[in-house]
Amino acid sequence: MVLAVPIRSAPRTPSIFGLSREALVGLLSERGIPPYRAKQLFSWVYRRHVRSPEAMTSLPSALRAELPSWLDFSLPRVASLLGTSDGDTHKFVLQLSDGASVECVSMRTERRLTLCLSSQVGCALKCSFCATGLMGLRRNLTAGEIVAQVMAMGDHHAWRDDRFNIVFMGMGEPLANLGAVLEAIRILHDPEGMNLGARRVTVSTSGLVPQIAELAAAGLPVGLAVSLHATTDALRNELVPVNRRWPLAELLPAARAYGRATGRRVTLEYTLIGGVNDTPEDADRLARMARELPSKINLIPYNPVPGLPYARPDAEAVDAFARRLYPQAPAVTVRNTMGGEIWAACGQLGGLSPA
Ligand code: SF4
Repeated sequence: MVLAVPIRSAPRTPSIFGLSREALVGLLSERGIPPYRAKQLFSWVYRRHVRSPEAMTSLPSALRAELPSWLDFSLPRVASLLGTSDGDTHKFVLQLSDGASVECVSMRTERRLTLCLSSQVGCALKCSFCATGLMGLRRNLTAGEIVAQVMAMGDHHAWRDDRFNIVFMGMGEPLANLGAVLEAIRILHDPEGMNLGARRVTVSTSGLVPQIAELAAAGLPVGLAVSLHATTDALRNELVPVNRRWPLAELLPAARAYGRATGRRVTLEYTLIGGVNDTPEDADRLARMARELPSKINLIPYNPVPGLPYARPDAEAVDAFARRLYPQAPAVTVRNTMGGEIWAACGQLGGLSPA
């Protein structure tokens, strides 16, 4: 008789990048290893950027020898790396252990390095102007896969920047994968490790109202960016379909409550699409919304995506919209588009690459 045995894949070795220090202490204690070794490991990995246990000389040699058998220190393979001609922006495609790939972007300005992270492979929310939305949702990323994006980009920049910002504005809706996003932020925030301040982190959302409250309750005063893109429900239903579930009358109070709970101004992201949402009336409504909450407005001239019926407004139209806003709104910036030539700009992540 042949017994049918369910085939189970071998349990994967946990990645150190997905473990908080507390979780690492738990893993170590199962093996009779004292908790302070977790602190040492965090220091090696996140402060000194050493990932070969053999080189972690403050650990006993027996521990160094056994660590790789039950803890994975490897990063996803960089399957592709594209840089802009000015060298300021790089788009990384990382190949994950199940073969999926995810994109992340580093952007350097005179003032700082910003790392733009993905939270999902693809996205379910189907914003009508976005390349990632065209992919549909393939899966959520784990906390370890999110932290690994920071490590891969930091390696590329040789950890020259003692301080940098991270923004969850890559592929996916971060608040649809809030558990992993929060876990990753906590790992990066750990004072014994990278010690990345919560004020250096911005989480963007297209408007998942209940999760905005959950994020506020998490006790990490990270910045919140709301991808607004329209000032009427009719247009927002079209551009950001999740608006049908949580319309502006629910989203804006949730954003206001977030700002009050964290003491931080909420960023209203507004992608300016030529002939779609760039009228003077749009500017007036946007200014009114911005005045109702502690906020700043970030205007993003649209970055075209092949196959989508939207165009970038010309420079005069962007300027006119911004000028209409300036006297009425508390703070307005126009985002200097970075990475358009390598399909790394906002809304362009989704397997696109230059011809
Ligand atoms: S804009 Fe953000 S939320 Fe909308 S489809 Fe793209 S990745 Fe998803």
